[in-house]
Amino acid sequence: MISEVGLFWLLLPLAAAGSWYLARRGTERVTGARVNRLRSNYFRGLNYLLNEQPDKAIEVFLHIAEVDSDTVETHLALGSLFRRRGEVDRAIRVHQNLVARPSLSAEQKTQALLALGEDYMRAGLLDRAETLFTDLVGIDARAPSALRHLISICQQERDWRKAIDHAQRLEQATGESQARLVAQYWCELAEHARSRRDIDGARRNLAEAFAREPNCVRGLLITARMAMDAADPTAAAQAFEKVVDQDIEFVPEVLAPVLRCYEQLDEPHRAREFLRQLTERYEGISPVLALSRVIEREEGDGAAIAYLTEQLRSRPSIRGLMRLIELGLRDASSGERERLLVLDELVRKLVEGKAMYRCARCGFGARAHHWQCPSCKSWGSVKPIHGVAGD
Ligand SMILES: [Zn+2]
Repeated sequence: MISEVGLFWLLLPLAAAGSWYLARRGTERVTGARVNRLRSNYFRGLNYLLNEQPDKAIEVFLHIAEVDSDTVETHLALGSLFRRRGEVDRAIRVHQNLVARPSLSAEQKTQALLALGEDYMRAGLLDRAETLFTDLVGIDARAPSALRHLISICQQERDWRKAIDHAQRLEQATGESQARLVAQYWCELAEHARSRRDIDGARRNLAEAFAREPNCVRGLLITARMAMDAADPTAAAQAFEKVVDQDIEFVPEVLAPVLRCYEQLDEPHRAREFLRQLTERYEGISPVLALSRVIEREEGDGAAIAYLTEQLRSRPSIRGLMRLIELGLRDASSGERERLLVLDELVRKLVEGKAMYRCARCGFGARAHHWQCPSCKSWGSVKPIHGVAGD
């Protein structure tokens, strides 16, 4: 890429020729020509951008910026191009120069400050970005954009109380409900309190979460886990049951602990009925596997194998096959046993290291559930993967 100094020398004769032309032909016509040239350059730059050729686009925009230093939009475009290419220092320089100009309109200054704040975020200078966005919110200019950035900074810093304040201000500024987001933040605080064994604090945070989102699944899960902590399997089982009533995709999270509750309550019939209902409502294999264990315990291997074989016809699943092999191995002859063990090793390799969850928004795959997608940072978008190799 052409350097800025190199560009200056390159542009010098052009500028000299320009002034000569200006002196000779009169201001009005030349201004027109200059505008035309700038416009055609601008479109050339835009064309490079659209063709994903940022290097060439930067060259063109640098030309325009040098020739016409008044074009705020060009500087903004140039700065964000630098940022996108990872040249954050250069982006910061461009935007800082822009902000320092006394001639900017209020709207242009806000745009430049927002861009500078984004540069700081990209550079990891979160304190500086936060101060800048807070100032912007203070003068109420572009409050929604600045508030969204502030929320994202607070999420990175895990400062949930501040995030709640900003989200509520954003709600007031835009009229768009942020209830689900705010409920997630209260749940973060509740989990934090629970980990510190601050039960009252956790309860207060949960109450806030439910006040914003009455059927908050995460709040219900925390309630259930806290009931388990307090050795109250009745309350825990109820809360776990509510979780899957609200969102059936949480079956993998709920299955093991709720079965433990039924066991503590000594209610095998309730467990069997709960699992039977889940197999009707949930398309994954995990409740079928759990039910096959109950059948095996109550009616023996033969009944469990028959049940599993029938289920696998309608929902083919590698994990189901693994369970079938496990049951088959028990009374296999030595020849059969050898063949089954080869098969077992093979199917285990098929699912080894496979993601069990996927973000519905960006496609990020994960082995465990996340409330906030580690990749695109959206909340509540990570769900279990269904199908042969999934759940
Ligand atoms: Zn995602």
